[in-house]
Amino acid sequence: MKKWSENFNIPLPECVKCGTCCICASPSASYLTLLEKAAAGEDFARDFFSIFVPYKTVEEAKALYPTIIERSIKSSKIDGSKTKPEDLVFYKCRYYSKEKQCLIYEDRPELCRDFPGTPYVILGEECAYYNWAKECRKKYKDLMQELDNLKKYKKELDNLKYQQKAIKLNYQLKQIPEEYKFMWLCPSMSIVSPGKSWLKVY
Ligand code: SF4
Ligand code: SF4
Repeated sequence: MKKWSENFNIPLPECVKCGTCCICASPSASYLTLLEKAAAGEDFARDFFSIFVPYKTVEEAKALYPTIIERSIKSSKIDGSKTKPEDLVFYKCRYYSKEKQCLIYEDRPELCRDFPGTPYVILGEECAYYNWAKECRKKYKDLMQELDNLKKYKKELDNLKYQQKAIKLNYQLKQIPEEYKFMWLCPSMSIVSPGKSWLKVY
């Protein structure tokens, strides 16, 4: 998160503790994959299950946060999405109180401190990082577009160099007397190598 801000020179906002990410979380890994990772001792997955419990159904979560859930479903249907619609599970934190407070704020795990981590997570509009993420994604897209343009220019420049070479070669060919041209065009057929012979081409 800090890196995105530093690299793109976009100031990092401060969390306003609205609690949306505490009560409507949906990691990109499926429930089963996360369980496997937790069983294998992976830190993120273990921390995740130490605080989050899944909603019984997607509809239950949707009733609370319709916009985020609908956007998550929509993005899961996009080609190449890490999560498939049938793998979507939403979670709420067991330490988020009815008074809308984190009961373990000072001891909250790293994943809470790092959230959102990247601008490519689905955030509610109330999240302090919503506009920040939007700006980072736009800047990244613009940079990729610029990179594509530069690649195209490089290709054009290479073509131009090739054309310049062709023009130069054409000019050099014109300087060679007709009867010796075969030595330039087919040096292997020459009795004397053109590189070392009297036939020098400048
Ligand atoms: S531990 Fe605290 S900060 Fe982390 S998700 Fe739960 S309530 Fe939110
Ligand atoms: S949704 Fe955003 S602003 Fe709200 S608590 Fe989470 S990180 Fe902070």
